[in-house]
Amino acid sequence: VMQWSVRRQSSWVQLAGHQGNFQLSEGGEVLKRFSEVEAVCLQALMADPLRPFVPQYHGSVTKGGESYIRLKDLLSGLKNPVIMDCKMGVRTYQEEELTKAHTKPTLRTDMYQKMVKVDPTAPTVEEHEQRGVTKWRYLQWRDNTSSTATLGFRIECIMMENGSVQRDFKKMLTPAQVTEALLSFTKSQLHILKAYHSRLQALDEALKESPFFKAHEVIGSSLLFVHDRTSQASIWMIDFGKTTPSPSSVQLRHDVPWAEGNREDGYLIGLAALTSFVGQAISQ
Ligand code: ATP
Ligand code: MG
Ligand code: MG
Repeated sequence: VMQWSVRRQSSWVQLAGHQGNFQLSEGGEVLKRFSEVEAVCLQALMADPLRPFVPQYHGSVTKGGESYIRLKDLLSGLKNPVIMDCKMGVRTYQEEELTKAHTKPTLRTDMYQKMVKVDPTAPTVEEHEQRGVTKWRYLQWRDNTSSTATLGFRIECIMMENGSVQRDFKKMLTPAQVTEALLSFTKSQLHILKAYHSRLQALDEALKESPFFKAHEVIGSSLLFVHDRTSQASIWMIDFGKTTPSPSSVQLRHDVPWAEGNREDGYLIGLAALTSFVGQAISQ
């Protein structure tokens, strides 16, 4: 469930993720609930060619009995930031989640309800009668209903400078819809679109040089697009809670389709698509 919060003390806004996972901190930092998987990734990324694309990581801290990861606040210094969270990859669950879901086909009412909320016609007659779907069915439905499976990314949410949040992208599938969303997100400002385009190209270069990227399966990670009215515009890689080292026997390519067992995440498929949509928005 995506939630967001605006803190009066600063411009910090949490678009995606569970509320309560984040705390505002002093000194231009945010605190995210500690995850070993994410901390290990951030540590490695600080010494990788991807470092300029990742919020600076300052280790962990314990506050009120909870552990947190300390990250640079990507919104600090921005005036009325406009933000977009794009979840990358052709799937947003780990293969283990699917395997577990296969072996444990219990019916989930919560997932049935989430499904109905997005699309009341999505469940089958049987699923409607049971008022439940298996997790396996839900995970695959979620990625196939959005542009994740076909385009390799999906827009999770957009926040405009007046603070209004749009989250109704779960059924966004077509390239035309994505381009339209990009034009509205940037208000068609050419210099912003151009800044995003070159940042995406630079990210592509850095990914090709990155030992981290070669050795990791990147699942559920987002690109955070941020610009403001002073024309600052940048893109950051965030959310490494499901990014894990790939088995040493597997050499990931990141630009080929996923088939169960090959562990591919399709990150570069999504990045290429996103780059070309921003390019199209520029030429419109
Ligand atoms: P989920 O796994 O459900 O996507 P999560 O709890 O892992 O969520 P993130 O995706 O890492 O959380 O972050 C949620 C939101 O918080 C982002 O969409 C973004 O708006 C904001 N955010 C995260 N990290 C930063 C940061 N370093 N600076 C500013 N904003 C951030
Ligand atoms: Mg996230
Ligand atoms: Mg996450």
